[in-house]
Amino acid sequence: MLSERRVAIIGAGVIGASIADALASRGVRVTLFDMRAPGAGASQASAGVLAPFIEAKPGSPLLALGARSLLMWDDFMAGVRDRAPGHEVEYVRTGTLEVALSDEEHAHLTTAAAWLASEGVTHDWLEGPALVARAPMVTSAARGALHLPDHRIVNVGALVRALVQAARLSGAVCVTPTEIVHVEQVRHGVEVRIGDQRHTFDHVVIAAGSWTRRVRVAGVPVFPVRPIRGQLLHVRWPDGARPAHSIWGTRCYTVPWADGSLLVGATVEDVGFDERATVAGVRELMDAVVGLLPSAADASLEAVRVGLRPATADHLPLLGPLSSHPGVILAAGHYRNGILLAPLTADIVSKLVLNNERDAALDLVSPERFYGYT
Ligand SMILES: Cc1cc2nc3c(=O)[nH]c(=O)nc-3n(C[C@H](O)[C@H](O)[C@H](O)COP(=O)(O)OP(=O)(O)OC[C@H]3O[C@@H](n4cnc5c(N)ncnc54)[C@H](O)[C@@H]3O)c2cc1C
Repeated sequence: MLSERRVAIIGAGVIGASIADALASRGVRVTLFDMRAPGAGASQASAGVLAPFIEAKPGSPLLALGARSLLMWDDFMAGVRDRAPGHEVEYVRTGTLEVALSDEEHAHLTTAAAWLASEGVTHDWLEGPALVARAPMVTSAARGALHLPDHRIVNVGALVRALVQAARLSGAVCVTPTEIVHVEQVRHGVEVRIGDQRHTFDHVVIAAGSWTRRVRVAGVPVFPVRPIRGQLLHVRWPDGARPAHSIWGTRCYTVPWADGSLLVGATVEDVGFDERATVAGVRELMDAVVGLLPSAADASLEAVRVGLRPATADHLPLLGPLSSHPGVILAAGHYRNGILLAPLTADIVSKLVLNNERDAALDLVSPERFYGYT
């Protein structure tokens, strides 16, 4: 039976879709709005690498969040597979190989390996014949590589489709294309405006990615999220060869897909809401991948994808309720790690909506760290 609780979610990217599935499967009446199609924002461009021990610095809040979320991924995938039968979602522990091409990078990775050992994170160091045997396509200039077997990849397009379908099968309604830019806390809930109509919900979750600043909550300053463009290539070797792991260099990373293609990511560009692929972006990635995997010079270029990462000033999400408007919950600004952090985000928001329970992680990511809402 559905509970009487009604929640609107603005944005059906990986974050909004994960929250929609988590809430709908627990009986909440969810309405999921997107101004495009589900998954057509940053999520469609994502490389889908789940790699907190590369992305986050030792001791950083992002590492605490990322490592915690990584532990949730097996159950998260089992849940969505159960609730969206027939939707295949590629999710594989490929591991990552972070390659050192210079003395400086070698020293950096050696320090990282010592830190991983002290934290009890499974890893190994490969060089010489061991590296060639494990990753024969990596440049012979490589000085060594740090292997983290627990890092994973997920096909994000398929994941968002499965999450939305799972939410629908649990009773959620998906309303697209519909843009919501006005939100107001009223006496008995939170109101969203669609044209001349007003609809009231118990909670409104703003999961609008890079466009979050365009959603205005009456009486609240603009949310400090801005777009950082990422371009990413799909390449394919004529004989179907490609590395088995996700390989990382300092200028690019690569992700092997089950369909035999290799994804090469990603540029980091502060160019506003410009979602074009550019010659400069493609050239940067092509040069970088040939430096890392020389035989990529013979691969064909199949596609270029572009997305806008939702960034905040400290690169941590804006997550949690506004204390001045407790029915409004933010779940945005996940920058480079929105896929990795999706299970944790959905869990934190669900606990807030269902039990008014404040996860300890909210102290790190509360929107109030920027505005001092009281
Ligand atoms: C090239 C690239 C590679 C990446 N690689 C990785 C990776 O390997 N691992 C990882 O963890 N992360 C990665 N990321 C980051 C990750 O993709 C993002 O953090 C994540 O997709 C953000 O999800 P989201 O749902 O918040 O935003 P989005 O996916 O952008 O979704 C927001 C949605 O909200 C909708 N919307 C916006 N405003 C409104 C409105 N007013 N009304 C209605 N709907 C609205 C949009 O149409 C959109 O569908 C990558 C990003 C890029 C660009």
